[in-house]
Amino acid sequence: MDMAPGIPRNCQCGAASTVLTSTTSRDPGRKFYRCGAISGPNHLFKWVDEAHLEEFDILASRQAMMLNDLAEIKQDIVDLKNDMREIIGVIELIRTKL
Ligand SMILES: [Zn+2]
Repeated sequence: MDMAPGIPRNCQCGAASTVLTSTTSRDPGRKFYRCGAISGPNHLFKWVDEAHLEEFDILASRQAMMLNDLAEIKQDIVDLKNDMREIIGVIELIRTKL
C-alpha cells in the first residue's frame, strides 16, 4: 500500500486510523497505526515510531520554509518603511513649494 509520509489520519479506504499495540514476539509492545475498519493488505498499517520520525522531518522542513518566509516578510516591511519615508519626503517637499 502506497501512503503519504508522516502520521496517517485515515486509511485510503476512508476509515480513520487507529493506534494499536503489537503483541507479536518480534515487536512486543510496539505501537502501530492501522485502518480503523479493516485489517488487510490494502489497508493502513504503519509503525507509530516510524510515522513520528517522518512527521518530525515534515515539520522541520515546514519550519525551515516558514522561517525563510518570515525573513522575506521582514525584508518587505523594511522596504515598505523606506518607501513610506521617501513618499513622505516628496509630500513635504511639495508642501514647501505651495
Ligand atoms: Zn482501510
